[in-house]
Amino acid sequence: MNIPVAKPYMTRDEAQAAYDTILTGWITQGPRVAEFEANFASYTGAKYAVAVSNCTTALHLSMIVAGIGAGDEVICPSMSYIATANSIKYVGAIPVFAEVHPEDFNLDVRDVEKRITPKTRGILLVHQVGNPADIDAFTNLARKYNLALIEDAACAAGSAYKGSKIGSHSDLVCFSFHPRKVISTGDGGMVTTNNEAYYNRLKLLRQHGMSVNDRVRHESKTVIFEDHVELGYNYRMTDIQAAVGIKQLAKLDWIIEERRKIGQQYNEAFRNITGIVLPFEQEGCFSNYQSYCITLKEDAKLDRNTLMQKMLDENIATRRGVMTTHRESAYKNHPYSNLEVSEHASDNTIVLPLYVPMSQAEVDRVINVFKELMA
Ligand SMILES: *Cc1c(COP(=O)(O)O)cnc(C)c1O
Repeated sequence: MNIPVAKPYMTRDEAQAAYDTILTGWITQGPRVAEFEANFASYTGAKYAVAVSNCTTALHLSMIVAGIGAGDEVICPSMSYIATANSIKYVGAIPVFAEVHPEDFNLDVRDVEKRITPKTRGILLVHQVGNPADIDAFTNLARKYNLALIEDAACAAGSAYKGSKIGSHSDLVCFSFHPRKVISTGDGGMVTTNNEAYYNRLKLLRQHGMSVNDRVRHESKTVIFEDHVELGYNYRMTDIQAAVGIKQLAKLDWIIEERRKIGQQYNEAFRNITGIVLPFEQEGCFSNYQSYCITLKEDAKLDRNTLMQKMLDENIATRRGVMTTHRESAYKNHPYSNLEVSEHASDNTIVLPLYVPMSQAEVDRVINVFKELMA
């Protein structure tokens, strides 16, 4: 039995939707994209949603729309996928790395406040492995210092904070549909917003800054010419991807339910093992369990890398927990200070297999091997 760490939930349904869309002859930025956006806005409870090519481009456009530019500082975690910090650098701004909480790896609001300077313009808040950060605390901090708040919700589609879905709380929330996330369109991204001006600018920027989109031109009975009103990008999503996304989104709540059931089985089975910390949700937070991430403490039976190798020897794939950006080669000249909590968390976490559907035999095998090695 070979157990991967993750795999996307794809069925004939998604394949058929892609097939049908290809044969309509409209294969990018058309009716399926509009439908996917409307469905995503209504699912999250946000006023608007704008589909883009991936979450990294969603973050890039959000930086522009928030008015972040050259020399500005934006505070974000180093402990995140590298795209978080990269998106800040794309606009010439400077990522300032702040610490995370050791228990749920989300940004530590007090540490963030300490790192605010006169140059700080924004906070990029990551919902780590789908587990919501304390949005209210960061909204208040952003108001106090007049900063933009952007949410990197790449992993958090379907997660909720204080009873509302992620995507509804603030003005720039970015999602990913990479196959490693809970729902996928191959690659793909979305920005949700409640701000109409942001919405209009995002639509412009993702399509070369073009004043009239293809669909409007196509449906018009009179000849219209477009103008390109500012420097834009090609960050479009295709209709083929959107058609897949529509099918995936309809299954999202069910997928999360299944993921949480597997997560609960792990929690139950590992409860009494000493030397490990199980994933947990802060009060008011509902996680989509994008990853099942365990922290190993000093008294754990094996260190993280040995555990990973021993599980691989049993044909069970695992991954290290979330990376730190400041220790990657691309950031070797980037200044930072005091990130011990992030480094320690990153070096001592392990992600166990979790996907849908996962057979009971597979779940049992992971549980038994992990317990044998660690209990
Ligand atoms: C996956 C991920 C991204 C990048 O998403 P893409 O869709 O691959 O561009 C950004 N931030 C975080 C936290 C992620 O996990």
